[in-house]
Amino acid sequence: MNTKTLLQIAKDYGSPVYVYDSEKIVSQYNRLTTAFNKVKQVKINYAVKALSNVSVLKLMHSLGAGLDTVSIQEVKLGLTAGFSADKIIYTPNGVSLEEIEIAANLGVQINIDNLSILEQFGTKYPNIPVCIRINPHVMAGGNTNISVGHIDSKFGISIHQIPHILRIVENTQMTINGIHMHTGSDILDIDVFLYASEILFETAKHFKDLEFIDFGSGFKVPYKEGDIETNIEEFGKKLTKRFNEFCKEYGKELTLAFEPGKFLVSEAGYFLTKVNVVKQTTSTVFAQIDSGFNHLIRPMFYGSQHEIENISNPKGRERFYSVVGYICETDTFANNRRIAEITEGDILAFKNAGAYCFSMASNYNSRYRPAEVLWHNNQAHLIRKRETFDDIIKNQIEIDLTK
Ligand SMILES: *Cc1c(COP(=O)(O)O)cnc(C)c1O
Repeated sequence: MNTKTLLQIAKDYGSPVYVYDSEKIVSQYNRLTTAFNKVKQVKINYAVKALSNVSVLKLMHSLGAGLDTVSIQEVKLGLTAGFSADKIIYTPNGVSLEEIEIAANLGVQINIDNLSILEQFGTKYPNIPVCIRINPHVMAGGNTNISVGHIDSKFGISIHQIPHILRIVENTQMTINGIHMHTGSDILDIDVFLYASEILFETAKHFKDLEFIDFGSGFKVPYKEGDIETNIEEFGKKLTKRFNEFCKEYGKELTLAFEPGKFLVSEAGYFLTKVNVVKQTTSTVFAQIDSGFNHLIRPMFYGSQHEIENISNPKGRERFYSVVGYICETDTFANNRRIAEITEGDILAFKNAGAYCFSMASNYNSRYRPAEVLWHNNQAHLIRKRETFDDIIKNQIEIDLTK
């Protein structure tokens, strides 16, 4: 999206505001499906938690995607957006059997990631086929908070427990129709992913009734110029070859599934904020914006570096700034960042603000969560209103303390 359009959106809808470019989402989706167009059956299940606005889900639906969900509420959002239950996979971690039963009764594909629930579910519902989430113990990703396949991870059933899985399957007579892994976000190395895939293929041989193999996600997207990103095209070629070979060996045309979040929506998003104060101290120049980690937690939470552009003065002389928020706690978006000269009132655009940004926003400091705008067919559409004071107060109950 160009600077002028973003600036106009900030004027029209106020700041802070999230903006998503539907064209970018579509092109990322097409990149992924093209990379795997030599596999007969491919399913892209968009990971709802990355960005869960219903209008974004509807866009995914129009592209032919399915959904990957991690809570019953995400399942309901998917149904609300028009997905049929069979297009939704439910991959929770550590949720109750009751919640899994609700999802199963809605007709979504269940993915189970621990032996206890597998045994209970299989005993109660031997006729509902389930997918199992395997932990291949492959260390992937640069950040331990988002790397979920390592040995200490709480996710998935260890590959070393396959004999126990098989025993449960035999005892309950349940059907395993899919196997799954998701080793974490920010996988830098295709070979690591392929190595984990081999483990999944080995595992798959133990199960006779598979319909699909789900390779999860974790594709890395670039955050700034020169950043490494997963080479989807090369990855597509290599995994396609191995997948097709495996299907021959297995004796059945399986579906290859992915569940990308970040890859589809990260680069499509912009977070627009206004500079309230430019504050010169003895050591730095702070640009203080009308937002904080309540709206965009990733820099403080994961140390992620979102590129920041001063779209009010894009051609201005670059200076060094520390960009900080208004939360009464350390609340830093960027340190010593080169940004075109900032004047109070300027609009700063944060890039890569599509994934895990709005969806992680909170009301901390009793602030309103921002509005969201979808830029679609060259038009801005408001897809979520900015909150108001009513939203802050609506579930609170004032009691009479004199009683
Ligand atoms: C979060 C998550 C994803 C999406 O990961 P990205 O890195 O955003 O692509 C996929 N599958 C599962 C099970 C997840 O928990």
